Amino acid sequence: MTDSSQKKKIRIAIAGNPNSGKTSIFNKITGMRQHVGNWPGVTVEKVVGTAEVEGVEIELIDLPGTYSLSPYSPDERIARDFLLFERPDVVCVVVDALSLERNLYFVAQLVELDIPIVLALNMMDIAKSRKIEIDIEELSILVGAPVVPTVGSAGKGIPELLKKIVEVAGSDYSPVPLNYGKESERAISEVEGVISRAPMLARKCHIGRFLAAMLLAGDPEIENLIFKNAPDSDVIKAKIEAIRHKAEARERVDGETILADARNGWASGVYHEVVKDPHHDEPTATDKIDDVLLHGFFGPFIFAAIMFAIFWTTFRLGAFPVAWIEGFFGWLGNIMTAALDGIGASAIVKSLIIDGIIGGVGGVLAFLPNIIILFFFVAILEDSGYMSRAAFLVDKLMHRIGLHGKSFIPIILGFGCTVPAIMATRTLENRQDRLLTILILPFVMCSARIPIFVLISGAFFPNHAGLVMFSMYALSIAVAMLTARILKSIMFPGLSTPFVMELPPYHLPTGRGVAIHTWERSWLFVRKAGTIILAGSVLIWALGSLPPGVQYAGDGSWAASIGKFFAPIVETFGVDWRGAVALLFGFAAKEIVVATLFVLIGTENASINVGLAHMFTPLSAYAFMVFTLLYTPCIATVAAIKKETGGWKWPAFSVLLGLTVAWILATAVFQIGKIAGLEG
Ligand code: GDP
Ligand code: MG
Repeated sequence: MTDSSQKKKIRIAIAGNPNSGKTSIFNKITGMRQHVGNWPGVTVEKVVGTAEVEGVEIELIDLPGTYSLSPYSPDERIARDFLLFERPDVVCVVVDALSLERNLYFVAQLVELDIPIVLALNMMDIAKSRKIEIDIEELSILVGAPVVPTVGSAGKGIPELLKKIVEVAGSDYSPVPLNYGKESERAISEVEGVISRAPMLARKCHIGRFLAAMLLAGDPEIENLIFKNAPDSDVIKAKIEAIRHKAEARERVDGETILADARNGWASGVYHEVVKDPHHDEPTATDKIDDVLLHGFFGPFIFAAIMFAIFWTTFRLGAFPVAWIEGFFGWLGNIMTAALDGIGASAIVKSLIIDGIIGGVGGVLAFLPNIIILFFFVAILEDSGYMSRAAFLVDKLMHRIGLHGKSFIPIILGFGCTVPAIMATRTLENRQDRLLTILILPFVMCSARIPIFVLISGAFFPNHAGLVMFSMYALSIAVAMLTARILKSIMFPGLSTPFVMELPPYHLPTGRGVAIHTWERSWLFVRKAGTIILAGSVLIWALGSLPPGVQYAGDGSWAASIGKFFAPIVETFGVDWRGAVALLFGFAAKEIVVATLFVLIGTENASINVGLAHMFTPLSAYAFMVFTLLYTPCIATVAAIKKETGGWKWPAFSVLLGLTVAWILATAVFQIGKIAGLEG
């Protein structure tokens, strides 16, 4: 055994453009299973993992993708701040071999940080199949850093990459910053000189050259960071500005462009030096597929058809296993009853296990097949690269309703779970676009609501269950869009941001990738069933059983007292106190609405359907679904909104907005339906 305190420890950041394969490589090294998806903006938070190579302990940080070190969006800022202030021992830059030129722009900035870098030249499998030749040695010389070819998704080249990283970490090597040309170089050293003569500043910025270049470019954020609380900052600022003006006058463009042009020129030069791409100007397979899928006229129809097919299949295929699982829990209930009778368990214990736990948790888990099937399709869409096309297709539509095209990605995620969707809004550059998207996300139908709708539409509309489900999705989208439109015209009139979405190449999803994605999300659902839904079920069971001696879930129970307090609010859409209890506890997690229905009415009747029929008419059942669809998804959503917007103002607004819209629409559906003679 070696002494563990002797072990060397290094910190490595994985950085690079979005969608270049950083997380794939991170996962391969650490054995973790962070989310990868074939579109930019998947990783919005830095993620830390560990590994050990040749006795060296490695701490690995997977950063959000970034195009440059002048961030445009919050997730890019996370990456920039980490590189700048936490200074890892080595930066592993993941570079997409298929768009080397654009990726090299970022490398050009990185080399200025004076941190050793290693290039992982990724996507080499596709590069090979397209007969793109890259002179690795030459690239390594031109960049001044080791280059290792990799296939992140398959784990090829990872051992070599790690070896290089460890090697570089132990040496005193550092990359050679690129030369901006004589005049600009002089301007940069002048700025550096000004900084180094100000002792307070010089201590702050050991990354002299990078900061000097950023100041010369007039980067407002860097200026803020450096000059905040610095003595004489006005004098120094003025000096730097003078240098910048001189350079700008000479080059006739602004400071930022001078440096950006130089980096672009360098990237383009290196690219042409090392890459031989015989099919460079020919349309790729991706281009050809996009001609069809992004067709101005057919594209949207194809998209709608794909989505409809997915929902339809989810509920058609899901119906079989749902019946099996329900059968299983029915059987389990009988066995348990017999067993509990056998050991002479008291009525209260029996009721807890049968009504509370098997009824509530089992009722929710019955919908696991639907969840798995839906997530399976979503995983295929994500991994193939079609998801970002969807964003592209609806971009125009989004603009018309006042949303940013990029908002579409959080919205798509929102069909899974609202919480990561809210986090994904970090890819939006503009704070107002971001807020708007955050406010409409709770209306997007997350998968936690699926069990409620499958249960109720199956019970009340057995012949049209699919259609009813689809109407819920349609309503969800309609309300989200309409709310966006209205909020925007009230809160931020006249705002519009151009949207340039980079479309990743299509590739066949790997079985492993799809399996992992489906599993991850489905497991989350199962875990919820075992934790918060279990707790909710037991709590509601207890409220239904207390005070002692009361008829279970009867009029005298505590559950009834709580429900009746809120009943006047829900009566306007035809729902009684049990519905009120379900909605109230649904705040914790939406699945609890179903669990509550099962716990409160599941066993006093022969089957849940008969029980439901006592509680709802088809019309009030539909109104109940509308309400459930539109009010706040869960506590975790409220917490996420608070975290992302900082403060209680917006989460409070969001909850109020949800309740108001839900109540108005549910009541309208019920009352209008009643007038139309649908009740009864
Ligand atoms: P990130 O945004 O940089 O973290 O990139 P991801 O790791 O999420 O990967 C983006 C997409 O590219 C995913 O669909 C990966 O499966 C895929 N991918 C990553 N590396 C490779 C590779 O070397 N070859 C191929 N063909 N696909 C890759
Ligand atoms: Mg990632």
